[in-house]
Amino acid sequence: MQDNQLPPLPAATTPSPPAAADTPPAAHADFLILGAGAAGMMAAAACGELLNKRRHPPIRIVVLEKNPRPGIKVLVCGGGRCNVTNAGDLDYLIAQFGRNGRFLTPALQALDNNALRTWLAGHGVPTHEEHDGKIYPDSNKASSVVNAFLDAMAEAGVEVHSGADHAAADVTHDAADGKFVVRTSGGAVWRAGVLLICVGGQSYTRMGTTGDGYRFAAALGHDLVTPRPAIVPLLCKQAWISELQGLAVPDVEVRIESPGPLPRLATGKPAPSINDLLFTHFGLSGPAVLNLSEIVAELLEKFPDLTLRIDFARHSPRDELSARIRRWHDTDGRKLARTMLAEIVPQRLADMICRLSGIDDAGICSQLSAGQAHAIVEHLKACRVTVYATRGFKEAMVTAGGVKLDQVNPKNMESRICPGLLLAGEVLDLTGPSGGYNLQLAFSTGYLAGITASRLIRNPAAPGMV
Ligand SMILES: Cc1cc2nc3c(=O)[nH]c(=O)nc-3n(C[C@H](O)[C@H](O)[C@H](O)COP(=O)(O)OP(=O)(O)OC[C@H]3O[C@@H](n4cnc5c(N)ncnc54)[C@H](O)[C@@H]3O)c2cc1C
Repeated sequence: MQDNQLPPLPAATTPSPPAAADTPPAAHADFLILGAGAAGMMAAAACGELLNKRRHPPIRIVVLEKNPRPGIKVLVCGGGRCNVTNAGDLDYLIAQFGRNGRFLTPALQALDNNALRTWLAGHGVPTHEEHDGKIYPDSNKASSVVNAFLDAMAEAGVEVHSGADHAAADVTHDAADGKFVVRTSGGAVWRAGVLLICVGGQSYTRMGTTGDGYRFAAALGHDLVTPRPAIVPLLCKQAWISELQGLAVPDVEVRIESPGPLPRLATGKPAPSINDLLFTHFGLSGPAVLNLSEIVAELLEKFPDLTLRIDFARHSPRDELSARIRRWHDTDGRKLARTMLAEIVPQRLADMICRLSGIDDAGICSQLSAGQAHAIVEHLKACRVTVYATRGFKEAMVTAGGVKLDQVNPKNMESRICPGLLLAGEVLDLTGPSGGYNLQLAFSTGYLAGITASRLIRNPAAPGMV
């Protein structure tokens, strides 16, 4: 299949809603998966590859997806290039998930970044490493990743039913026979012995992820850590910021000047955050602030605003910068201050720092006052901006919070509250920083859920599954 083409979806076989208002007959699935995102597609493929390639008649693995086709969120990942994972060993990956990282150990042992790359290569998607350990498909197309999963699911006999009518609307557990009952928006009813909830979080809602999984998990007796936006751009008060929109500044250090104690990190990226910064028409974005944004969101629940301190010249100490500006004054007196400053930061930022330091466009180095030289150093080393809001769930790349981890067995992704129920991906209280960690989390937990489903189906009475 060509990389830039999505295959036609298999015809949906969900029973049509009944003409009468009474309950329609339920369709049966051995393994029912809610959500064909990263976790759901991996779980379906892993379970199907284990069971259906050897078994006749095949077990029935069914995926219900709200969007018109599977993997739509994966298609937008990494700007359409799909940063599938990150290089680094197991401990490094676990550390990225902060306070909850240890939960991921068994899932990463089942499918770590190298195993994921091998899986993708085995399905026709070789990958390569780029800056900061980010791993991308050689095709540089997210569609090649989604197509690999569509092929794998089709070959493993997985049925995918996608479109608004197939969205799961509510989920219950029938205590009489231990089956899960899922009603769809279109009125169909599914019954399954093993159910996987992997409908993602509630961020980037236009991609279909509207927090349904939290509702389903709560209905089945689970508690939630309050969902909040993460990896989300920040709104700032200073008007000058918007004038720099579109400007990316590499390798800056950003710290939160917290009005209170910093919350414990959920994303695992220690403050300060060191990475690239992007100015936007509303404030700040880019990995340097995105990776702090979850903590910012948490602090903004308590305080009306907070200050970020940005170091644009983190490799140069203050006294070195002060001495450099004195040299401009003494030996480059006729040169424009803005031209000299552009040797340290991009020209547009240099112009803005001059303006903020009271130096006009024609200001030359010999005219710099001690106060202006000091102001330049301050703006380079400790530029303070006031953040008053995040762009919210609508623009957050992931949702922090979710189903409490002590209610899920990390060894198999099975609920400790409701046997036979599996949970994977962003619906769980796990969040990584940007850099491929969140897809790895979804693929690893989805894979482990798929393996668990195959065991539960082969031997439903197997002890020790929970
Ligand atoms: C713009 C953007 C870029 C990103 N780039 C990267 C990146 O490069 N690398 C990275 O690691 N992470 C990236 N992420 C994060 C990554 O997309 C998620 O962490 C990951 O997709 C989560 O996987 P998941 O399977 O848990 O959920 P999702 O992939 O979100 O899949 C959930 C699926 O469930 C479906 N669904 C929702 N409700 C229902 C329902 N009621 N019934 C049926 N189906 C339902 C949704 O339509 C969706 O298809 C990015 C996110 C965004 C928004």
